[in-house]
Amino acid sequence: MKYRIGALLICGILLAGLLPGCTSGQSEPVFRTKTDVFGTVIQITLHAYEAEDVLDAVFERMDKLHALLTVNAVDSDVGRINQNPGRWTEVDPVTVSLVETALRYARLSDGAFDCTIAPVTTLWGFPSGMPSLPEPAAIREALAQVDYTRLETRDRAVRTASPGMAIDLGGIAKGYACDEAAALLRQQGVTSAILDFGGNVYALGNKPDGSLWKVGLQTPVAGAGGIIGHITCADKAIVTSGGYERWFEENGVTYHHILDPATGYPADSGLLSATIVTDSATNADALSTACFVLGVEEGLALIAGLDGVEAIFVTTAREVIVTDGLQTAFTLTDETFTRGKP
Ligand code: ADP
Ligand code: MG
Repeated sequence: MKYRIGALLICGILLAGLLPGCTSGQSEPVFRTKTDVFGTVIQITLHAYEAEDVLDAVFERMDKLHALLTVNAVDSDVGRINQNPGRWTEVDPVTVSLVETALRYARLSDGAFDCTIAPVTTLWGFPSGMPSLPEPAAIREALAQVDYTRLETRDRAVRTASPGMAIDLGGIAKGYACDEAAALLRQQGVTSAILDFGGNVYALGNKPDGSLWKVGLQTPVAGAGGIIGHITCADKAIVTSGGYERWFEENGVTYHHILDPATGYPADSGLLSATIVTDSATNADALSTACFVLGVEEGLALIAGLDGVEAIFVTTAREVIVTDGLQTAFTLTDETFTRGKP
């Protein structure tokens, strides 16, 4: 896990560096970071009157969401669902709705995104932060419990089918939190802000001077630092999944935290990263994880069926594949990568 925090801070500094300077009549940007939610660094930068009060309210909401959705607590909604297999667990409406969204993307991606992957992520030790390589037999056994078609919701309750089943919303929760934070900021009258939730970025409105935001995409190689390019946009979520942030090494092999539900091993689809650009960070989060598992061809096919969703795939051959709607908005700046054809 060694590069996780470092890389995110670099990303944040780059984003902040892209913010405009203070021009006459504009307030100084207010910047706040939090490190104890969603297993990542979250930061929000905004221009607004009473920005500190607005941020207090948003970060308080982030604590509440984390407390509901974390897989690492027995008393979160997710923890309670996982300890009550085969039975309905009463949960917050937010949890029901997020599980339903996760199920929608499980069906759309034919199980490449599957929030019932928890027995396998737990076996690998990713949620606890102490990962190690499991025995193949143990992976097979855990994988037998993974099946999103056996996860159900109803009004205010969620149920897994049988003992051994469990859910992990880690592939979608940060995106949801990012959307909630953006909605709260809008409610408070904020018209210009950048939210960075560990690789889930939301560019709210335009820059204070009215121009588009420039959002840097991290070079998707562990320890590389720097950016591979940038996207100009307004009111968009830009969410990246990759194998370069959370990983460990055993016997000279690196293993990352995005698992292929078809094999129980880290996804190995020929991608360094998958970035999704769309209106909703929740949808972008689920889709970026799904596309990272699926690879270029199947990922592009998935995106093609969805309205208003664009993608950038970076392959292990260092090709950058950009969907039509982003051709002008994306600029590749790292010359060690080439632009491929979608
Ligand atoms: P990050 O959390 O680094 O932003 P992702 O959004 O891609 O990356 O989510 C990865 C997390 O999602 C993992 O830490 C794990 O909790 C969960 N996860 C891993 N593989 C899958 C999968 N195939 N489908 C759904 N969730 C997954
Ligand atoms: Mg995701």
